[in-house]
Amino acid sequence: MPYARKAQCLHESIYTVAIAGNPNVGKSTLFNSLTGLNQHTGNWPGKTVSNARGRFSSDKNDYILVDIPGTYSLMSNSVEEEIARNFLCFGNTDAVIVVCDATCLERNLNLVLQTIELAKNAIVCVNLLDEAKRKGIKIDLNALSRLLGVPVVGVIARKKSTLPALISALDDTVENRKKQSPMKIKYAEPIEKAISILQPVLDSELNTSLNTRFLSLKLIDGDTQLLDEMHSFFGYSILDNNNISNALDSAKEVLKAHDLDSNSYKDSIVTSIVLEAERIAKQVVKLKTKRYDQFDRRLDRIFTSKWTGYPIMLLLLTLVLYLTISGANYPSQLLADGLYWVESQLDKLFHLINAPPFLHGIAVQGMFRVLAWVVSVMLPPMAIFFPLFTLLEDSGYLPRVAYNLDKPFKKCSACGKQALTMCMGFGCTAVGVVGCRIIDSPRERLIAILTNSFVPCNGKLPTLIAVITMFFAITGSGLFNSIISAAMLAGIIVLGVLLTFLASKLLSKTILKGVPSSFTLELPPYRKPQVLKVLVRSLLDRTLFVLGRAVLVAAPAGIIIWLFANIYVGGETLLTVLSRFLDPFARFFGLDGVILMAFILGFPANEVVIPITIMAYMSKSSILELSSLESLKQLFIANGWTWVTAVCVLIFSLMHWPCSTTLLTIKKETGSLKWTALSVIIPTLIGFALCFVFANIARLFC
Ligand code: GDP
Repeated sequence: MPYARKAQCLHESIYTVAIAGNPNVGKSTLFNSLTGLNQHTGNWPGKTVSNARGRFSSDKNDYILVDIPGTYSLMSNSVEEEIARNFLCFGNTDAVIVVCDATCLERNLNLVLQTIELAKNAIVCVNLLDEAKRKGIKIDLNALSRLLGVPVVGVIARKKSTLPALISALDDTVENRKKQSPMKIKYAEPIEKAISILQPVLDSELNTSLNTRFLSLKLIDGDTQLLDEMHSFFGYSILDNNNISNALDSAKEVLKAHDLDSNSYKDSIVTSIVLEAERIAKQVVKLKTKRYDQFDRRLDRIFTSKWTGYPIMLLLLTLVLYLTISGANYPSQLLADGLYWVESQLDKLFHLINAPPFLHGIAVQGMFRVLAWVVSVMLPPMAIFFPLFTLLEDSGYLPRVAYNLDKPFKKCSACGKQALTMCMGFGCTAVGVVGCRIIDSPRERLIAILTNSFVPCNGKLPTLIAVITMFFAITGSGLFNSIISAAMLAGIIVLGVLLTFLASKLLSKTILKGVPSSFTLELPPYRKPQVLKVLVRSLLDRTLFVLGRAVLVAAPAGIIIWLFANIYVGGETLLTVLSRFLDPFARFFGLDGVILMAFILGFPANEVVIPITIMAYMSKSSILELSSLESLKQLFIANGWTWVTAVCVLIFSLMHWPCSTTLLTIKKETGSLKWTALSVIIPTLIGFALCFVFANIARLFC
């Protein structure tokens, strides 16, 4: 067995190895294949925003692998570049695997050249050889290794069988069996001269294993961030050392004498790297045909054109929702039937053991019923929605969505990457909020965070689907029902997106003023998704994880809600008293006291809003048998619901305060109570305003 999945230490020494590379080249896939972990992979740049760690063992050594964020350079122009640069420079790694995409090696070589200049013991791992082969691209790995002066290994990260060569190169490297002589980029003469003044002084004064050529290059440029890092690394400011600061001044003088200011200095460095990468690529990359990416470009013309881009996006969204809704109907019903059968058995059991009524109430009518709702209504749609969404992500379609939405976001003075974080919010808003780290500008990141809850997360989707199906679809045939439901749900999501634009624009015109930062959105190649892996992973990682969390919240929520519905104050239940208190206010917005109360009690998780509503209504008429959505509809109608109430519930479900997990995440990400409070106030105000307008217009006409 070439490597073990277990995290046990089998050998004496443990080596730390970083996995670096451009975004979207398969770093996380390689990390997962080696460690057996499940770091999120996806066909779009920028999803790894912090360092993930995992362990694996070869026959000879134990390793700690660190998957660092993907970057195009180590110039520290962005958060990702800074994290990656600092880790490679100060992370005390024993080796670095630089992963490259074989289908666009030249671009990847820019980072390779910078990495081998900075880090000790680099191994270049040319990934995606299967795609390169498909596109008629051949890479001479031996020649590449000779030119770079470091080991080069070709792999298909998705296939573990291709990894032993990489592992054995890693063993050789950390054991220093093959001495590396990494090539040095030759910079313009004045730069080389400046380096030659500072580097020897750093070598003698610091006596460090850090790469002093790289440090010189950065210090000459006046990189204050690097100085801070060096300060924490050494425990003192190196500029306090007169020899170093004098050498630095002399080095800077050389640049001044050659009229090289900070910008032209950086430009000159980048030019040298790019030219070197071009020179190497010319020698090692062989193309069968120059039009190897013609198919991708054709698809792009369809998916991102002005005329077809948006309709296809809407169509795909509706299709995914249609498959979700129609596919979920039958298993949902089956699950509901099964769980209600279990409930009847539990009733019998409690009766048999003569359990006190309150215990039966809390356990069965409270906890079990809410759980049964959450499982039967949430599990099937999620088990369909997540894999479909992941397939789109894996195929590379998601960045095309971001590309299409880039212009409108820019028009709202926000960042095009917000489209990606918005898509992440579909799964879970808390995840979307963390994902906003991919946006560099703090202003734009805040806008994205504050509006992330505007697209429905999987906690809201079941409520939306249930209300739509009950009130707007139970009329025609099954197929017709599902199409209507999917179209309505797509409409609600589009409303969420439009409101995101509106709120982003308002924020950037008021409290978050500023111009949109420029960024180039990279369109990754289309890739054939790994259908089976997507199915298994999205079921295990996303569906069961989210369901597990919902169940954890739903069980205690069920108990609390039952207590609310069964504790009597002055002859009435607490739920009735509280909902009557809220009723006049709620009716103003087309809702009722029970619904508003359910949203308030649903703060820990949106999934429990409908079960709370059911329980509150049933506390008045508790003999109802609720095994189908039709009987649920009857319960709601008996409690005064009309189609107007249903629409207001849909609107409010889309736009109200985020759940507790999301708020905690927002507080953590922004570090500010003010922004956390605003993330509650903004959607809630919009939700109330929309409900008010809709309910009152509807009352005028009906
Ligand atoms: P990262 O951003 O560098 O961490 O990239 P990921 O590991 O998330 O991979 C990006 C995309 O490339 C995903 O869709 C992967 O499934 C896909 N991918 C990774 N390695 C390979 C490979 O060897 N062959 C193919 N065909 N696809 C791959």
